[in-house]
Amino acid sequence: MSDSLKKVKGITFWQSPMLKKISGLYHGFSCRKGGISTGPFSSLNMGLKGGDRPEAVFRNRQLFLHALGLSEAELVLVKQVHGSRVLEANSGLAGCKEHLPADALVTAQKGIVLGIMAADCVVLYFFDPVNEAIGLAHAGWRGTAAGIGIELLKTMKALYSTRPENVKVAISPSIASCCYEVEQDVINSFAENGRLEELVYCKQGKKMTLDLKETNRKQLIKAGVKAEFIASSSYCTFCHQDLFYSYRRDGKKTGSMMAIMALAEPGQWCQR
Ligand SMILES: [Zn+2]
Repeated sequence: MSDSLKKVKGITFWQSPMLKKISGLYHGFSCRKGGISTGPFSSLNMGLKGGDRPEAVFRNRQLFLHALGLSEAELVLVKQVHGSRVLEANSGLAGCKEHLPADALVTAQKGIVLGIMAADCVVLYFFDPVNEAIGLAHAGWRGTAAGIGIELLKTMKALYSTRPENVKVAISPSIASCCYEVEQDVINSFAENGRLEELVYCKQGKKMTLDLKETNRKQLIKAGVKAEFIASSSYCTFCHQDLFYSYRRDGKKTGSMMAIMALAEPGQWCQR
């Protein structure tokens, strides 16, 4: 299965082959083309952290969601803190508010749009076809060391009776092992959390590189997800400057991509 980029209404976004043909399920990962932001944020910036004009960011979010056939009024965002808290999204949280601290969202409510920001970090997409529930997790190295994907699966089990062996997972574009040099503190953090055996990294002399996508994949397989139900993007956000923002490459003054996922309201999906 290979990665695919889709272009709708001038907006380019990534979709996973694991999820893209499922009726009633929306998902996407924004690229940086087709928006109205300028300078280092050019052009489809989804995030406010780098210092872009808020009105440009809100317009960009609207453009991206509309390209997918979704509405920003149903979008649920969180204040991402590189932790492992999972929040259940509902219509009361919708409407571009980012005040609740969490790094993962789940829902079984149709029409609710889950949104997670990333500018190098992995985003994990979860779909339980049996109980019709979805989840999105922000998995940078800190979140991965804290087992955020596993925490999300536990939450889906508690709320929706999800069984890991039924779940389909997509792993977004992120900084890849070719470009992700890390320090010893990353290794120590995995060791402290008892997750050293899930860590996939390469050490050559003093240089260490981390494979965040593969580490998450290994962690999820250990948690009971079937290997054939996990698809990882091959895109590196650092290497593909034309397509993605990268915090590591560009520093603080850069944009963000947004991952979104939603279950369609009855009859809504056919409009895609
Ligand atoms: Zn790279």
